[in-house]
Amino acid sequence: MFGNETICAVATGMGRSAIGIIRVSGPEAISICDSIFEGKKKISEMESFTAAFGTIVDRSESKASSEGEAAIDEAIVLVMKAPHTYTTEDTVEIDVHGGPFVIKKVLELLVKLGARIAEPGEFTKRAFLGGRIDMTEAEAVMDVISAETDRALSTSISQLTGMLRGEILGLRERILYQTAYIESALDDPENYSLDGFSEKLMVEVTDIRARIDKLLSTAEEGRVIREGISTAIVGRPNVGKSSMLNRLLGEERAIVTEVEGTTRDTLEEYIDIGGILLKLIDTAGIHTTEDIVERIGVDKARQSIESADLVLMLLDGADELTEEDRTICSFMNSKRVIVLINKVDKLESGADGDTAGLTNIDEDELSKHLTEAGTTDWKIIHVSAKTGQGIDELKELIRDMFFKNELDYNDQIYITRERHKALLLSAADSLQRVEQSISDGAPEDFMTIDLMAAYETLGEIIGETLEDDLADKIFSEFCMGK
Ligand code: GDP
Repeated sequence: MFGNETICAVATGMGRSAIGIIRVSGPEAISICDSIFEGKKKISEMESFTAAFGTIVDRSESKASSEGEAAIDEAIVLVMKAPHTYTTEDTVEIDVHGGPFVIKKVLELLVKLGARIAEPGEFTKRAFLGGRIDMTEAEAVMDVISAETDRALSTSISQLTGMLRGEILGLRERILYQTAYIESALDDPENYSLDGFSEKLMVEVTDIRARIDKLLSTAEEGRVIREGISTAIVGRPNVGKSSMLNRLLGEERAIVTEVEGTTRDTLEEYIDIGGILLKLIDTAGIHTTEDIVERIGVDKARQSIESADLVLMLLDGADELTEEDRTICSFMNSKRVIVLINKVDKLESGADGDTAGLTNIDEDELSKHLTEAGTTDWKIIHVSAKTGQGIDELKELIRDMFFKNELDYNDQIYITRERHKALLLSAADSLQRVEQSISDGAPEDFMTIDLMAAYETLGEIIGETLEDDLADKIFSEFCMGK
């Protein structure tokens, strides 16, 4: 179906693990695996979706002539026959003991016998090409694999179950109906009238566009769910950045991802706060408190702020605003900022623990500097990295700043990818042109051009752009040429 190539890859990690799974898919999957498997039955004689125990052996000439068959490892093979498999092709899964050496050996044998090492995502690509999943679902598979919070996982799973596809299919269906109606009316004016049609079309198109706009309005949240909120923790030395970071890391599950070719600078750190992922920018220096030179102060603040979605700016509540604080404020531009007035545990507080107005920070002056820097979305909270005071408030604030639809993320469709966003924007543009044509009183066949453009663009989201759809629609709904 996708050429004659049979592909193979390790489905589990390459490290040491209890078992390692190698997947083989393609027209030769069964015959190739038969050549390296020694069991009671041949794989080709096994029923689909059954497993068998046996040994992986190297029967290549050099081995066979000198030492007879060389056993590599015990294995369980699972055979799944086309077309009811993930890739829609014949697929064999080989479970061996999980050492990297054994796995490598089995892969080498498979390649020697004509399989090719799969490219990243190729199994899923075949599932897509085989029509088993659509493009949004294929993308969701990738997201499920890389999800790092519950929220990211549930979003990609809802996409995987076809929620986005369902929505897109519905919108396309409506557009196609209108186009087919126009075509039919132009072809067969006796039976299909266009009188009063443009008013109806306007209502329909406006409504479709509103649905698209609603999807687009989730794109910012969708991106944040998928990628996390890029967060910069800034402040002059000794205000408590490192302590705050440790407080946040200590309270929550810390996730540290080593990026390939890693040095300390490319270490990506994430904090999961109640399902929201903060992707910390440039905190490598903050950690090493003994290493004064590397501690992030004013110099690095500007850089980190530039690439941030959210800035956590720390101040020392026992001090007054300093020149350095003012300088950091001036870097904020239009960023979302949460000012953390830290060390409030050092202050005398009222009986209710309220520290407002008791710090030495002139909050009016602070506001003035932030406003002058161009910030419009900012909040001030009183915290203590030492006691944890204010941390819950901080989390709530972040949630409010970034999530409008916070409670229904299980049922809500989120646009999580730039690709989808760009295509939706383009479809909305085409529909807007249809509305314009209607207002201008343009002829109907003119409108079909933009309607079909919107239809095709939406199709790209789910990986479908079939011109035949229109003909099918016309035949099935309007029985043309009967
Ligand atoms: P950084 O240079 O901004 O990373 O600051 P550090 O986190 O290293 O903190 C500087 C000093 O302030 C350390 O001695 C911390 O123990 C202390 N500190 C940080 N946060 C608090 C706080 O909330 N309360 C009190 N009392 N001390 C704090």
